[in-house]
Amino acid sequence: MLVTLNDVLLPAKKNKYAVGLFNAVNMELARGIISAAETTQSPVIMGTAEVLFPYGPLEEVSYYLIPMAKKAKVPVVIHLDHGLKKETCLKALELGFTSIMYDCSTDDYDTNVKKVKEMAEIAHSFGATIEGELGHVGDNEGSAEGSSHLADPSKFFTDPKMAKDYVEKTKVDALAIAVGNAHGAYKLPPKLDFDRIRTIANSVGVPLVLHGGSGLTDDDFKTAIKEGISKVNIFTDINIAAVKAEFSKFTDMNKGIIDLIPAAVEAVKQETAAKMKLFSSEGKAPYSAIEALTNDVDKLVEIVVNEVRKKLNS
Ligand SMILES: [Zn+2]
Repeated sequence: MLVTLNDVLLPAKKNKYAVGLFNAVNMELARGIISAAETTQSPVIMGTAEVLFPYGPLEEVSYYLIPMAKKAKVPVVIHLDHGLKKETCLKALELGFTSIMYDCSTDDYDTNVKKVKEMAEIAHSFGATIEGELGHVGDNEGSAEGSSHLADPSKFFTDPKMAKDYVEKTKVDALAIAVGNAHGAYKLPPKLDFDRIRTIANSVGVPLVLHGGSGLTDDDFKTAIKEGISKVNIFTDINIAAVKAEFSKFTDMNKGIIDLIPAAVEAVKQETAAKMKLFSSEGKAPYSAIEALTNDVDKLVEIVVNEVRKKLNS
């Protein structure tokens, strides 16, 4: 079932759990992620980011992600992570992505507000949702995502008062915040500013997003979610799990790729399912499905009519 961020994040915010975004630049990743979501009965957000296009072009990725989401037995959001250019966001919306992130976090405040407000109007006209970022989440060295390495990340932490103003002005559906998190693998254990998460959660109405989730401890996630995080982005952990599985399965230079594909899919599935359990999104698929159906009255009527028909025929 293909849904939007609001369908999965509003119930998550209300009931204090988080939904993971897992990037899927190839079929092994996509199959592992969907399989984990169906097995754990978890809503899920799946997609790609602009910096990952060299590994899977946006259009090509859309050809499998969107049909897979529609056929999935659980609610799936197809999301563009870190759209950096206006044209990229527009292209994703035209291809049928149900959600985008327009990352203008390196622009000055007024420019960030202006560009994201304009894009929010466009995304909403497509029936899609949009995530913005205020403050700036930097990158750990060697990260495949994001766009900048920061000498002192605390200078770029999200200001709670500005966050409230930003959300009201731009009309974003979700807000990515900088609270000590960074993209890629952490060299030193990160220190999250949980007080800041709580203050921002109390001052803005929309669900909050934590980027750079790979490498945080289980306790970090649990506390961050308790204080108000509703979406967590994970890529590095599943990216590495796939390769470790392929490497351990590799025995012979003359064997083909088909010997390695099932190992990669299974490793991605296990890693993703573990995160879903940790974020407490396990078993929450029905909540998101109901939210999605109440937003789509025609679909709801169709389901009820079919059920009544079945009863009448039996
Ligand atoms: Zn990010």
